[in-house]
Amino acid sequence: MSEFDLIREYFLWGDAIDTVRVGVGDDAAVLDIPLNNELIISVDTFNEGIHFPVETPAHAVGYKALAVNLSDLAAMGAEPAWFTLALSMPVADRGWVSEFTRGMRELAQKHNISLIGGDTTRGALSITIQVMGLAAPGVALLRSGAQAGDLVCVSGTLGDAAAGLAVVQNRLELTASAAEYCVQRLYYPTPRLALGAILRGRATACMDISDGLLADLGHLLQASGVGACLYHALLPISSALNTVAFDQRLDFALRGGDDYEVLFTLPPALLAEVQEEASKQQIGVTVIGNIDAQQSDLRLDYAFPDKRRGYEHFS
Ligand code: ADP
Ligand code: MG
Repeated sequence: MSEFDLIREYFLWGDAIDTVRVGVGDDAAVLDIPLNNELIISVDTFNEGIHFPVETPAHAVGYKALAVNLSDLAAMGAEPAWFTLALSMPVADRGWVSEFTRGMRELAQKHNISLIGGDTTRGALSITIQVMGLAAPGVALLRSGAQAGDLVCVSGTLGDAAAGLAVVQNRLELTASAAEYCVQRLYYPTPRLALGAILRGRATACMDISDGLLADLGHLLQASGVGACLYHALLPISSALNTVAFDQRLDFALRGGDDYEVLFTLPPALLAEVQEEASKQQIGVTVIGNIDAQQSDLRLDYAFPDKRRGYEHFS
C-alpha cells in the first residue's frame, strides 16, 4: 500500500467542518478562524512502550492519542476545532491502521473536531497530535489564578488508570470486573470537555491530571504562587479501585498517571452551581482540599508507613 493510498483511504474523513477551507490533500491546511476567538494550541507525542504499553489495541491507541490532546483543550476551557496527526509506524499494516483510525474518528466525531492534515512516515510506532481549539478572548482557563480560600476540586475518580496499567503489566491482581473497569479507564480516558465549558468564568485555575495528582497540583500551586492542604479521605475512589489495599490505592490516586481528570480551584460560593451543572453532564466533582497562602507548599494529611514512598515532606 502506497503512502498516498493509505492517506486517501484512512485519513481523508470527509467530515470537515465549515471552518476548513482546505484540509487533508494539499501542502497545508487553510482555516477560517471565526472572528473574535483566541486560538488555543497543544501538541502531545505518544510513543509505543513509553506512553502506552505494546499490548494496547490499535483502536485504543487511536482513541487515546486524541483523547489526551482533547483533555488539554478541556483543561483550558476551549472548544475543539481542528487537529493534525503525525504518524510514524514500522510497517503500513492495513488492519492496524484501520482500527487505529476507527478509534480516533469515533472520538473526533463525538467532539466535532476535524482532522486537517498530518504526516505519515516509517519508524518506531509514534503518534503526534496537535489540537487546536477556540475560546472567546481572555476566557481560557490557566494554571496560574488559584487564590487563598479557594477549594481544590477534581472531576471523576483518581488512580483507576494507574491500577489498569498495573493489571496490564501483571503487577496487580483484581477481580475480573474491577480489572476490566481499570483497564478501560487506562485505554479510554474521557476528555472532560463539558466540564471545561462549565468552568469558564468560574474556576480560578485549571489543568488536567496526566502525571498524577500530587505532581500536577504541584505545578498548579507553583504557577499560582499559593499552597494547598489535601485531605486523603476526600479523594474520589471508584468502587473498582476500592478493592485494592489502602496504601496502594492511595498511592495510585495520588501518584498514578493517565487519569485525564480535571483539577481546578474554585471560590467556595461557586461549588454548588458547578456540581449541579457537571452532574447534568454525568461528571462528578469532588472537593479534595483547600488553597492557602503558604507559597507552593503542598501538604497531605496522611503519612505513609512506608517511608520509601517519599511522602514524608507532604505530611
Ligand atoms: P507533503 O509531501 O507536502 O508533506 P504528504 O505526502 O506528507 O505531503 O501529505 C499529503 C497530504 O496528506 C497532506 O495534505 C497531509 O496533510 C496529509 N496527510 C499525510 N499524512 C496524514 C495523516 N497521518 N493524517 C492526516 N493527514 C495526513
Ligand atoms: Mg509530509
